[in-house]
Formats: sequence, C-alpha cells, structure tokens
Amino acid sequence: MKEIKCQNCGSLALHREDGFWVCDYCGSRYEIDRRQKEKIEYLVMKAEEAFEKQKYGKMNDCAMHILAIDPYHSYSWLIRMLNEDMEHRLKKDRK
Ligand SMILES: [Zn+2]
Repeated sequence: MKEIKCQNCGSLALHREDGFWVCDYCGSRYEIDRRQKEKIEYLVMKAEEAFEKQKYGKMNDCAMHILAIDPYHSYSWLIRMLNEDMEHRLKKDRK
C-alpha cells in the first residue's frame, strides 16, 4: 500500500474520516484515491456475493485484498471476524 503522508506538514499520523484522510497534526484533508475507492467497492460487492453463496474462504480473500489497499476498512475487519467465527463453527460441527 502507498504510504499516506500529509503534504502540508509531512506527518504520517493520518486518520480516516468520511472518505478523506485527515492529518492529526495540522488537520489537512486529502481525498482517498477514487480508483482505490472503486476497487474497494467492487471487492465489497464480491465479498457479499461470496457470503450469499456461503463461500467464506472467498469472502475472506476479498477482505484481505481490501485491507491491503485500506488497512482501516472496518467492514473488512468485520468480514474477517465473521469468517473466523464461521470456520470455528464448521469445525465444531464436524466433531
Ligand atoms: Zn499535516
């Protein structure tokens, strides 16, 4: 993933806010790359499709791809937690 750096003060401490990166130090706002956003939207759609087909491994792969682009994508962390929970339950069922 491309390192996100404040172009105003050079700080690496930025946080996400409504589709923007906001600098913790000087408050500058940067729009998140639109192409990346579109890719994330596509991957979210794919993850939801996989979920409906109960292909949890594929759903998890989509989440991993999203997190490689945007490590703060909370929805993908939810998918990953859900996937772990599903795997746990499937293992229990097999016993
Ligand atoms: Zn800054």
